[in-house]
Amino acid sequence: MAGKKVLIVYAHQEPKSMNGSLKTIAVEELSKQGCSVTVSDLYEMQFEPRATRKDIIGDLQNPGQFNYGTELSKAWEMGCLSEDVIVEQKKVKEADLVIFQFPLYWFSMPAIMKGWLDRVFVQGFAHDFPQCFDSGLLKNKLALLSFTTGGDKGMYSKEGDSGDIRYLLWPMQHGIMHFCGFSVLTPQICFAPESVTEEDRVQMLTSWAKRLKTIWEEKPINCTPEWYFK
Ligand code: FAD
Ligand code: ZN
Repeated sequence: MAGKKVLIVYAHQEPKSMNGSLKTIAVEELSKQGCSVTVSDLYEMQFEPRATRKDIIGDLQNPGQFNYGTELSKAWEMGCLSEDVIVEQKKVKEADLVIFQFPLYWFSMPAIMKGWLDRVFVQGFAHDFPQCFDSGLLKNKLALLSFTTGGDKGMYSKEGDSGDIRYLLWPMQHGIMHFCGFSVLTPQICFAPESVTEEDRVQMLTSWAKRLKTIWEEKPINCTPEWYFK
């Protein structure tokens, strides 16, 4: 849809990777639709993933005992956050849809992406109390996790060794995205791209491009299925 803004937060070291191809296809397809697409290429940017004192410019509220969350929130309020964080927050603020493109690392996202979330989704900017979940501060935006795995689909079934993929989606989709107010779209999962045939990989890329053509018509999912932990 022309005029829509998309931010792709991308974490892969190699442009020729499957993740690199998935990212490129999304940029091409969404741009073709007239969307304005911004990519935060975290490894290329050498994005700082560590949550430290350096994220606050100037004096601390309590220099005697450092509390990252409290200091960060205050720094956000006072406009004293580190410039690299401010730049990313601006991209998030403008986006209608944020796509997270990454390879699954330890049932989660790579550390550099987790660090991006730790530092960018600051209390006061992305959430507050009681402004979380449906009233999270990033409401009216869409989030979509697009990732690749090492394990195949069978491994991530309820009977498989890894268990149902929805167990690991829950912390990311519900604990982070929904918590901050995002409406969550169905995740795009490419199972085991390293193990499948070239033909299957091409098919994965084609189906992602096809899905993106109608992405703006999609309804958000319920990321808190009733069966979790029962
Ligand atoms: P790549 O190896 O880059 O790509 C696969 C193949 O696709 C390559 O041969 C590439 O050349 C080819 N390709 C790229 N573009 C195209 C194109 N346009 N057309 C056709 N072919 C193309 N996996 C799990 O399941 N669970 C875990 O918990 C987990 N933890 C991990 C932790 C760490 C620290 C690491 C390093 C890996 C872990 N993995 C895990 C595995 C990881 O998720 C996979 O290795 C990764 O998702 C594969 O994606 P990739 O983009 O890196 O693949
Ligand atoms: Zn949820």
